[in-house]
Amino acid sequence: MRMIGHEARTGTIRYWTGLNDDRIRKLYTTYFKFGDAPVRRRRGRSPTRVGPLVRTPLRALESGVFANLLLANGLFSVEQPPGPVLKGNVDLGHRFCECYETYDVLVPRGALSLEWGWNLLISIRRGDELGITRCQTCSICYVFDLLSLPRSACPACLLFEHKAPLMLTPLTG
Ligand SMILES: [Zn+2]
Repeated sequence: MRMIGHEARTGTIRYWTGLNDDRIRKLYTTYFKFGDAPVRRRRGRSPTRVGPLVRTPLRALESGVFANLLLANGLFSVEQPPGPVLKGNVDLGHRFCECYETYDVLVPRGALSLEWGWNLLISIRRGDELGITRCQTCSICYVFDLLSLPRSACPACLLFEHKAPLMLTPLTG
C-alpha cells in the first residue's frame, strides 16, 4: 500500500513483497483508483540507466542524499557488499519507503521518484556502474560513475564554487 502510494511499479512491489501482479492490481483498484487523491499507475519496467543519476553535480548531490539515507538504514553495506537480502523483505521495504519519504522532505522538488531511488539502490548494490565515496575536503558521501575517467569531482564542492550549472529538469520514467 505504501509503495503504491509512491507510484511504484508492479515489478518493484512484487520484488519487495512477493505479492503477485493480480493481488497488487486489486489493492490499487480497491484503495487508490477512485480515492480522493488519485494515484497514477506507472506501466512498464523500472528505470535501469544510471547516467541521469549523476549527470550533473546537482543530480549527483541529490542521489548522494538518498544514498546516505539508504546506507544509514542498512539497505546496502560497504563492508559486506551488497548488504541484506531485499527480495521478499517487507520490513526493509518499509525502510526503503522511509528513506524515500525522508529524501522528499530533505530535497524540495527533488528529481528522484521512488523508482529512480530503487534504480539507485540496486545500481549501488550491483557495484559495477555506480560507486560511493567520501569527499576529502567537505566530508560528504557522494555517488559517482565508476566508468567515467577521470573520476568526477565532489558535487558539493563544485556547486559551492559555482562552477556547475543548476539544472532543475525532472527525470522521466
Ligand atoms: Zn566536497
